[in-house]
Amino acid sequence: MTFDDLAQDARVTIRHGGTPAAEGRCVVYWMQRAQRAVDNPALDTAIEAANILGKPVVVFFALVSYPNANWRHYHFMVEALADTAARLAKRNVGFVLRRHPDSNLAAFCEEARASLVVGDENPLREPERWRQELARKLHVPFWTVDADVIVPSKLLVKEQFAARTIRSRIHALLPKFFAPGAEPKPRVVWKAPRGLRSLSTTDDLLDGFPLDRSTQPVAALRGGTDKALKALRQFITQRLVSYAAQRNEPALAGTSQLSPYLHFGHIGPRTVALAVRDAGAPAADRDAFLEQMIVRRELAVNFVRYNPRYDSIGSAEPWALRTLREHAPDPRPYVYTERQLENARTHDPLWNAAQRQMVLAGWMHGYVRMYWAKKILEWSPSAEAAFDIAVRLNDRYELDGRDPNGYAGIAWAVAGKHDRAWGPVRPIYGMVRYMSFASTSRKFDSKAYIAQIGAL
Ligand SMILES: Cc1cc2nc3c(=O)[nH]c(=O)nc-3n(C[C@H](O)[C@H](O)[C@H](O)COP(=O)(O)OP(=O)(O)OC[C@H]3O[C@@H](n4cnc5c(N)ncnc54)[C@H](O)[C@@H]3O)c2cc1C
Repeated sequence: MTFDDLAQDARVTIRHGGTPAAEGRCVVYWMQRAQRAVDNPALDTAIEAANILGKPVVVFFALVSYPNANWRHYHFMVEALADTAARLAKRNVGFVLRRHPDSNLAAFCEEARASLVVGDENPLREPERWRQELARKLHVPFWTVDADVIVPSKLLVKEQFAARTIRSRIHALLPKFFAPGAEPKPRVVWKAPRGLRSLSTTDDLLDGFPLDRSTQPVAALRGGTDKALKALRQFITQRLVSYAAQRNEPALAGTSQLSPYLHFGHIGPRTVALAVRDAGAPAADRDAFLEQMIVRRELAVNFVRYNPRYDSIGSAEPWALRTLREHAPDPRPYVYTERQLENARTHDPLWNAAQRQMVLAGWMHGYVRMYWAKKILEWSPSAEAAFDIAVRLNDRYELDGRDPNGYAGIAWAVAGKHDRAWGPVRPIYGMVRYMSFASTSRKFDSKAYIAQIGAL
């Protein structure tokens, strides 16, 4: 394969073109979203490019401030770094770890004399802005690789209306992308130039780092590729076999709980989906899981990539905005402040349990997430306020928060995104799908769930 062939790969986006600097000493992979050393198409592209150029690869990872991230999130992220560094070393790839204020990537590229910079992609506003800014600063080519989806999101071209419209497009593209990655090895081993600064993964990386410490780390979920692969193995051997029937039973915790690992890129979606596809479980269970893992997850990425208002009510379809506006003046029997919601002080034991699970465990069961966000719509002064409160709580407490899935899930619950209009018309909700305590409790054993969370 030539350098130009690699640049044409469907996963690659050229942010800053040109030919790699001949006098350069290495290819830099800027690891941001795909925080892993295995099944990482961005890392693989950097290695393939480096092999063509006859240079080594070094990964640059920097701890910087990230909107709405707090101690809980940084702790989970930092916990993963020793594992990632060890796996990179095994692949003969260098690892340079820095933290703000010594975190300037353009300056590092000058220092390391990069020939080419490869980054991963993240459709969220802020990290996309970082990429655009870097493209303006760099004097060498800069490519990004869509490493955390199975089908590259640019191939979906525009915002898709619903799962039913994206599903056939994704399935048509899957044969090309749904296969194990090549996992190439660098031909030239990285040797750190003398004096190149890097922190060690054994340093206390958060000591003195300016971050919001109001939200504690959670003990039950530990970051890292090793932990993610273990969780995947446990899910496949113990729970996949009943996923279709039991995934909506919060007390049984029948789902994979992989969302924090997928969010931080500690595991790739392709690794998860291939393992499930090839598992011995019944087809109904594997298909139900792959629908969530591929179609729903990539619909969320599509939403955030193509809808600039993804984290506000403004992202809704015109029918939903109309019906919510018509019902804005409806009487609201319960209105809670954000503080009351945050402290799980509502009249509804199921909702309070869901909120407590999120605050204490850093993760909430998927079926309960729907109910949780719908009730915020019902109990807030307006749909706009409900959307904003749900985003703030979700992003603050969920380990998997600040993710396309979260914005899409909240938009679905509060603003009918990816859904259709439902009758009968209800107060406050209008034609946005309604969920009640009674109907939700008929779907699963809510008493068992409330008791389980009460014991946390
Ligand atoms: C209001 C609301 C808020 C949500 N917030 C988040 C969030 O902040 N972060 C997050 O990752 N997910 C969020 N989701 C989506 C979903 O609920 C979680 O991804 C899922 O419950 C995570 O648990 P799991 O890994 O055990 O899922 P599993 O059922 O084991 O599914 C495996 C993976 O498939 C993907 N997936 C599953 N359900 C969905 C879905 N409905 N939409 C998109 N992808 C899905 C996730 O990546 C998940 O890890 C939200 C959903 C709603 C309705």
